[in-house]
This record gives sequence, C-alpha cells and structure tokens, in this order.
Amino acid sequence: MTVEMPSIRSCSMTECAYNHDHGCHARAITIGDGIHPGCDTFFNCGSHCGSNHTAGVGACKVANCKYNTDLECQAGEIMVGSDRGGAACTTFMAG
Ligand code: SF4
Repeated sequence: MTVEMPSIRSCSMTECAYNHDHGCHARAITIGDGIHPGCDTFFNCGSHCGSNHTAGVGACKVANCKYNTDLECQAGEIMVGSDRGGAACTTFMAG
C-alpha cells in the first residue's frame, strides 16, 4: 500500500534525533496542537536515527491553515524550522 503524503523539503532543527543533513528522516511526522503548527515529532536527543526515509506529514491538527483540509495537509511539501523556541511548520499560512 502506498500512502501519498506531503514531504518535508527541509528541517533546520539539527538537534532533533530524526534530522541529518537538514532533512527529516522520520517515516511521518505530526504537526500542530489545534492552534500552533509545532512539530509533535521533534525529539531532542544526543543520537540521530540512521534511516534514509524522507518524512511525510502524516497528520496536521492546525485546521485554520489554508493548506489543511479535514485535518490533513494538502501542501505538496512543507518546511520545518524554529519558531517560538521549538520546531514548527514554517509553511503554515493562516486561512
Ligand atoms: S502547511 Fe498547514 S496544513 Fe500543512 S503541515 Fe503546515 S500547518 Fe499543517
């Protein structure tokens, strides 16, 4: 079964366990808490995963983003970076 998900074009959170070479290598990430598009999958850890997956957005709980339909992200790809002291989807656009 193939599941199409928006991909993570880049992530600047190099301290995250899933990050290497400014890419996110989790299988899928979850974004948002209903209000703020933080990355729920961020994990500040001393070691990094060895996977070569390019992560996709599995779920996004920020319903007021213009790319969000029925709590799923419809953007082709997103970027993740630092916001308010944590990791967040920087492709978020209120709408
Ligand atoms: S672009 Fe919008 S819908 Fe997609 S992950 Fe970011 S906040 Fe969620």
